[in-house]
Amino acid sequence: MATLSRAKSFIIKSSIFAAAITLSGLTHAEQFAIAIHGGAGTIEKSKFTPEKLQAYEAKLKQAVDAGYKILNNNGSSTEAIIAAIQVLEASEFFNAGKGAVYTYDGQHELDASIMDGKTLNAGAVSGVKTVKSPIALANEVKDNSVHVMLSGTGAEQFAKKQGLALVDNTYFDSEHRYQQLLDAKEKLKQQEKELKDFQAAHQSLDNKYKYGTVGAVALDKQGNLAAGTSTGGMTAKRFGRVGDAPIIGAGTYANNQSCAVSATGHGEYFIRYHVAADICARMQYQGITLDKAANVVINDVLVEAGGSGGVIAIDANGNISMPFNSKGMYRASRKAGEQAQVAIFKD
Ligand code: ASP
Repeated sequence: MATLSRAKSFIIKSSIFAAAITLSGLTHAEQFAIAIHGGAGTIEKSKFTPEKLQAYEAKLKQAVDAGYKILNNNGSSTEAIIAAIQVLEASEFFNAGKGAVYTYDGQHELDASIMDGKTLNAGAVSGVKTVKSPIALANEVKDNSVHVMLSGTGAEQFAKKQGLALVDNTYFDSEHRYQQLLDAKEKLKQQEKELKDFQAAHQSLDNKYKYGTVGAVALDKQGNLAAGTSTGGMTAKRFGRVGDAPIIGAGTYANNQSCAVSATGHGEYFIRYHVAADICARMQYQGITLDKAANVVINDVLVEAGGSGGVIAIDANGNISMPFNSKGMYRASRKAGEQAQVAIFKD
């Protein structure tokens, strides 16, 4: 009898162990990983002093390390990406939370979303003006509402009800973003005279006004994926414009069957081409690698369409891919047992 139960327990233990081993031959606990981005765009080396470069790199490292620490301590991928994104939201360097770009009317309207790859549960918010951490609100929508997306004042009421930190819209102010708005408005005025149309004028605005967002993707020790994105959107946006960042499938997607993706770039293209979900679907249905799927979408499909930007993506084996078709993308990643890798430019 005793021998039988010992044998049974051996079989049970081995099958649990086998289940925890992934295709790469490593256990989930050995291959957790995280990647983050601080936006893609016209990021040129020549515009960085050594001090500025160091400051940006340090902030990216701080964010990826914050997420890594949570994963290493058995935290979930969702907890890890929120921690990483909140470091970036609190920094003036990136277009999300503090440091968000200005709307045409001189305010800040923030968008964010989050998705859990195990349950496919998701939460998103758009056009919020007073919520200190939009990614925290997106997570509340995911966990504590029956909806996927809330917008504007309704989303803010929900934030209040959930006890999240609220701030005055001026909390998000920063001098460099205000200068960007004044610049953009001046250019819009000139273009509008020529083109006789605000939308056409906006379309002709340089890409540098259309970029910036933060995001994170992670695989935890339990083998679960998650993705999140948070942004101030586009400088001089108007009429309640909403970008791709809060749209599940466009700016954010996660599914344990394939991958987790957070995007940054010219949002209108990412919405039309359903970029984040398309990368995961290509992987799943075509049986191709994450890197292949992400590169085809960013460097073929989007380039052909004229949409610039990039993504960070991770699969269920902890493989990471971070392609972009713009000049640069603030990014960092860290795999189990390794140090953080931080990069900004193409080479
Ligand atoms: N995708 C964002 C938007 O269109 C901006 C960005 O990622 O740079 O709102």
